[in-house]
Amino acid sequence: MNPSPLHAAERSLLGDIMTSETLWPSLLVLCDDCNGRFVGSDDEQRAAAFIRQSFEHYGLSNAHIEEFPLHGWRRGPASLAVNGHELACIGLPGTPPCDLCAPVIFLGDGEPADFEKAGEAPKGKIALVRGKGSHRLEKYARAVKAGCVGFIFSSAEPNALPPTGSLEFGGNPAPIPGVGIAYETLCWLERALQRTTARGDMTAHLRVQAELFDAIGHNVIADLTPAGVESPDWLVMCAHYDGHDIAQGAVDNASGTVAVLEAARALKVAYDTLAAQGAAPALGIRFALWSGEEVGMLGSSHYAAKHAGELDRIKLVFNCDIVGNPGAFFLGVNGYDTDRLVAYFKELAGDHLFDIQTGNSMVIPYSDHFSFYLKGVPALMAATGGGKSPGPHTHGDTLDKVDVRAMRSATAFAARALLRLAWDPTPLPARHATAEEVQEVLRKAGYEDLLKAQGRWKF
Ligand SMILES: [Zn+2]
Repeated sequence: MNPSPLHAAERSLLGDIMTSETLWPSLLVLCDDCNGRFVGSDDEQRAAAFIRQSFEHYGLSNAHIEEFPLHGWRRGPASLAVNGHELACIGLPGTPPCDLCAPVIFLGDGEPADFEKAGEAPKGKIALVRGKGSHRLEKYARAVKAGCVGFIFSSAEPNALPPTGSLEFGGNPAPIPGVGIAYETLCWLERALQRTTARGDMTAHLRVQAELFDAIGHNVIADLTPAGVESPDWLVMCAHYDGHDIAQGAVDNASGTVAVLEAARALKVAYDTLAAQGAAPALGIRFALWSGEEVGMLGSSHYAAKHAGELDRIKLVFNCDIVGNPGAFFLGVNGYDTDRLVAYFKELAGDHLFDIQTGNSMVIPYSDHFSFYLKGVPALMAATGGGKSPGPHTHGDTLDKVDVRAMRSATAFAARALLRLAWDPTPLPARHATAEEVQEVLRKAGYEDLLKAQGRWKF
């Protein structure tokens, strides 16, 4: 097509998102009315209904909710007492309830070498590990394997609040209880352990209340299809809307959720404008808001399994996870032959409107794009702030932390990129990978153990 109508539509799209009056009200609903939107809660259902209504209101088609089953979990109080001291802690989602007294063993960062060095010593004890290096789930899986009876996980950052984070265990209920503590509490425990080594074991009294039940999670889907086309190939723009139950999940990830809603709204206008001029896009766009990401990417992996037969029609998954931090906009591109895709995004940002960084052929296994990458679909994760943010997964992730300007800028870039990719008649510069290729890359990147611990090493 003549490039000028597309460029005009792009300019309108950018202006629309940068000045939109719906962005902040949507954030308010998700954060103040729906709290953390923890999967399986009433808050999550209320948020799903709001998202679906928004899609319908913006004129998208096929707006619907897809349910998936999960192990539900409800938080109760948790306490940790050592040597007569009460230490602040919070239960990790999925933890079973407990009331146990057992010796504590400090296992450093909980890496394989730490467990190896400890030999048989961890058996029957409560593992204390620092949240550095490998993922929490890997450390937890090692503690279970070593025969530990409890798991204390600390923040690795001074001044950070106690971290939450799920104990998802390969689709099975978590076998041993786990709590999160602040870095300062870890330091106190470490010193106390050093002092008591000479006198013998230091015993902790760990009490956790929690409710486990069968629950349902809700993905929300809507489509922007070219007029008159039955089953087009797709771009998927997505984000997880669920958060943790201890805060509003404002940055992680009401920000990404609203980015998707805003892009959907503005892209619908752009599609209509271009179609009215007689043009037709090469691709449709499916918008997906996942739930259950925070407890193991459940919503997106359920979708990828349920829609396995359609995945070859997805040309790119564009996942927004944490786009409300101040700082640069980052695109981590997962896939094969993605050099051209990365060059494409760089060129798109080349007018210096956007402070953008791109990483090519990266494997980022901690968000929903990964559920698709595992199936060979080209996928990327967009985030702002270079990955450093103090709030996520703590009580501190509240609406006051969201940088609206960074969010608008990231959303505008994403929407513009999708518009251009969808209306460009040349095929997308990326390809689907085979299962063997995916497996090989994951092995090289060192994620085999994590994926096995999560029950996701399925090829
Ligand atoms: Zn997230």
